[in-house]
Amino acid sequence: MTVQLTNTQTRDVEALLHPYTNAVTHRATGAHVIERGEGVYVYDDQGNRFLEGMAGLWCCGLGFGDEELIEVAQAQMAKLPYYHLFGGRSHEPAIELAEKIKDLAPGMSRVFYQSSGSEANETQIKLAWYYNNAMGRPDKKKIISRVKGYHGVSIVSASLTGLPYNHKGFDLPVDRIHHTSTPHYFRGAHEGETELEFSTRLAHELEQMILAEGPDTVAAFIAEPVMGAGGVIVPPSGYFEAIGPVLAKYDILCIADEVICGFGRTGEWFGSQRLGMQPTSMSMAKQLTGGYVPLSAVAINADMASVIEGYSGEIGTLGHGFTYGGHPLGCAVGSAAIDIMRRRDIPAHVRSLEGEFQRRLRTYSDNPLVGEARGVGLLGALELTPGGRGTFDPVGKVGAFMAAELLKNGVILRAAGDSIVFCPPMTITADEVEELFAPIENCLNATLHWAKSEGLM
Ligand code: PMP
Repeated sequence: MTVQLTNTQTRDVEALLHPYTNAVTHRATGAHVIERGEGVYVYDDQGNRFLEGMAGLWCCGLGFGDEELIEVAQAQMAKLPYYHLFGGRSHEPAIELAEKIKDLAPGMSRVFYQSSGSEANETQIKLAWYYNNAMGRPDKKKIISRVKGYHGVSIVSASLTGLPYNHKGFDLPVDRIHHTSTPHYFRGAHEGETELEFSTRLAHELEQMILAEGPDTVAAFIAEPVMGAGGVIVPPSGYFEAIGPVLAKYDILCIADEVICGFGRTGEWFGSQRLGMQPTSMSMAKQLTGGYVPLSAVAINADMASVIEGYSGEIGTLGHGFTYGGHPLGCAVGSAAIDIMRRRDIPAHVRSLEGEFQRRLRTYSDNPLVGEARGVGLLGALELTPGGRGTFDPVGKVGAFMAAELLKNGVILRAAGDSIVFCPPMTITADEVEELFAPIENCLNATLHWAKSEGLM
């Protein structure tokens, strides 16, 4: 379908190459141009209001237009708009934020900054390699990630990501990166297998992979406590409790990618706390600054910190760092965001809404289009299927139709394949949760009708 593009849409297609977009269809349909945001809502350039059920890209945990964050950003811009941490320089916002991260993140001892989640995971892998070189284990370099995990799009982080679109056309993944199975009970469990049995089997599979590769060649395991972009996949009970001892047995680092789950999203400060994961290091971004300023952080435990610090002394320097890593604006806003989250006790607020949010999601389980309704905290997904555990062919068309229907009804949600994923601002109220769910039933039914008419089910 070709529509008459507005002037802004014409300028958009003439000037931008869009991420995660089919450039050919985009040229025909035009951009959806968002102009401003307030609370849980955004407004487009035609004056339409939408409830942002994805907090942007899982990042605006405190909603849009928070006055305190805006004031802190303005003040920091005026005082020191830029400085860096290279060569031993420092600044107060970077120190203060690192102290606050250490206070919140159990067992973490040092903080290293970058601007994005991808860069955080890039740093993680480089530090894992550096650490093992320092330890005199030059062969211990392989990384195990998971199918459907999402860790970013730079060359190494995209390789960690276990989704076909991030590899296809880019000659990825690079070597030394391996993927183990997705902990998705609905899709992966054998007939009659309990969640605990499934978890035990996955831990066994991981151990077999480590043994096959050689334990002396495996440096780290990386996982999101709850997989986000892969479709909000909550691990089965006992999963991380089963994985943890396998990693410890072979002296393998455990990296928690908290880029989505961090800062209250699951009802605890970190998803690893909620899901029973015991990381040796953590990646944080997105909600760290409420999404207002690009900033990411890698936190490492005391053992890694002392080895890495010692090695930098030995070889001359820690030869890693980004111009904008620890940007004063990001650090000042991140620091204020943590103050706000503490003052409002965002993890407690998430827990207070979780019961109703998760109950509402599961009410759609009976819809013939919903294979599984799942989630934890204020994260959720409705996996659309043609029936039971079936999958649509092609994948993604039905999800995209449903997301477009929701948009027509004033709600922004995303389709991860054919799963509709939910991640609203954590400041959302009970009434706004109602509003978020209000159009779902009708949109499911419209999508069901359309999918049947298209012969997709
Ligand atoms: N890790 C996770 C868990 C993510 O969800 C994302 C982004 N969706 C990233 C890493 C990459 O972050 P960025 O897009 O900021 O590079």
